[in-house]
Amino acid sequence: MSLSRKQLLKIMGGTAVAAGMPLGAAEASASQAPTRKRDVCIVGGGASGTYTAMRLRQLGKSVLLVERSDRLGGHTETHRDPVTGDTTEIGVVLWRDLPAVRGYFKRLGVPVEVFSGHESKPPKYADFRTGAPVNAPASPPDLMTSYFKVLKKYPYLATGYDLPDPVPAELYMPFAKFAAKHGLEALVPLLVRVMMGFGDLLTLPTLYVMKSFDIDMVSRLLNGGSFLTTKSGNNSELYEKAATHLDDDVLLNAELIRVNRSRDLVTIRVGTPQGLQTILAKKIVFTAPPTQRNLAPFDLDRTERTLFSRFRPHFYYTGLVRLPGVPDTMTVQNLGSTPPFHMPALPALYHIQSSGVPGLHHVKYGSTVPLTYRQVRANIHADIKRLVAAGTIPATTVKLSTLKSHSPYGMSVSADDIANGFYRRLNALQGRNRTFYNGAAFHAHDSSLLWQFTERLLPNLT
Ligand SMILES: Cc1cc2nc3c(=O)[nH]c(=O)nc-3n(C[C@H](O)[C@H](O)[C@H](O)COP(=O)(O)OP(=O)(O)OC[C@H]3O[C@@H](n4cnc5c(N)ncnc54)[C@H](O)[C@@H]3O)c2cc1C
Repeated sequence: MSLSRKQLLKIMGGTAVAAGMPLGAAEASASQAPTRKRDVCIVGGGASGTYTAMRLRQLGKSVLLVERSDRLGGHTETHRDPVTGDTTEIGVVLWRDLPAVRGYFKRLGVPVEVFSGHESKPPKYADFRTGAPVNAPASPPDLMTSYFKVLKKYPYLATGYDLPDPVPAELYMPFAKFAAKHGLEALVPLLVRVMMGFGDLLTLPTLYVMKSFDIDMVSRLLNGGSFLTTKSGNNSELYEKAATHLDDDVLLNAELIRVNRSRDLVTIRVGTPQGLQTILAKKIVFTAPPTQRNLAPFDLDRTERTLFSRFRPHFYYTGLVRLPGVPDTMTVQNLGSTPPFHMPALPALYHIQSSGVPGLHHVKYGSTVPLTYRQVRANIHADIKRLVAAGTIPATTVKLSTLKSHSPYGMSVSADDIANGFYRRLNALQGRNRTFYNGAAFHAHDSSLLWQFTERLLPNLT
């Protein structure tokens, strides 16, 4: 895979290439650009990339963190209401209460507290295809303990995708079949909340459900374990502090142009607002979603190309909406009217929920196909109008004040790929060609678990 001229032009608007310099000349110019030498170059400044950079620095390694957007934090995104100054999270809300998590916040000087949630009434359920109310299915009292018992059979899921060979069939069975086998159909409404952004849960291999609604989380829910959030109500503070700490070792608005990995060195060419830069690193850690676009600058070999081409993304959007006349404390969750699973039909809004900021409601939208912002906006309006027409929520006007895409999200592979040892081969890539991998696709969509995963990766990087 390599970048097309069009992609390169887009990356480097305003630079030599945009000024008409041929592609080869622009690359040659990159090779003359300032060169930075580092022990490790990290691609992607979200949860896992930022933590990796911070910890490697702490362990005495020189690092450079390359982030495509204009800030660190990835899915952590805080909205400040211009009217009240209040904040609300349209991305990451909470972390698991673990010593390592507390330690990380402490090192960066970000006070945390135990998460208690916003005040909101019990949710109303409706099928957003019609807007009509749906009765939540009754949950058997032992639902969670039954699920916990099954999870206990697969302790290795807690540390990554270290699956045995052969892979147990339950792990790649579609979740609907697994749920029917264990009498766990009533888990779906809760899973829809925990696994927003993962598409149709009924057809998804069960492995992804077990990785997302994992043994530690279920045990916390069963035993009253706690979660943490920032005292300031501004979760982005963690990443603002990390950016200050890493200072010159972060390149923002930076786009990879070429990554060449030789026996002794990784040469990385990056387009930045300050011009082209060259990084010479001993190792590279890739933490961005492993999509074709993100991997295009790499000199991938056949094994890497074949494996990465198997990943399929899902699509997830979050935003805030003003709905005058709808009580701030009202939550409406989308549930399909069809028993026994009540899985909502996607694409659709997952829910409308209290944001904690007066007059603003969270909206979360999921799709199995990519959509434009315009389509998502129109669909959100249509979903809310159906809820009004059916009398599920009071008459209102809809004003979407923020909409963000968190796509690509929930990268998954097929049941056949899982059965045929995809994750064994993926794990074998760690360290190959001086390249290491971190991030949700390699473990779980959970910041705390990714920080634990990073701790296990660090010895290979130092
Ligand atoms: C709405 C929402 C709510 C969530 N809530 C929680 C929660 O409460 N608690 C929790 O633990 N988890 C939560 N998660 C999940 C969690 O945020 C993710 O699992 C975690 O952020 C994944 O970390 P990551 O490092 O893999 O990816 P990200 O945090 O997404 O970081 C990837 C980074 O790479 C950058 N990037 C992408 N491509 C490139 C490229 N080519 N070059 C350079 N940089 C690139 C991106 O801009 C991004 O900054 C939530 C996710 C979403 C979407």
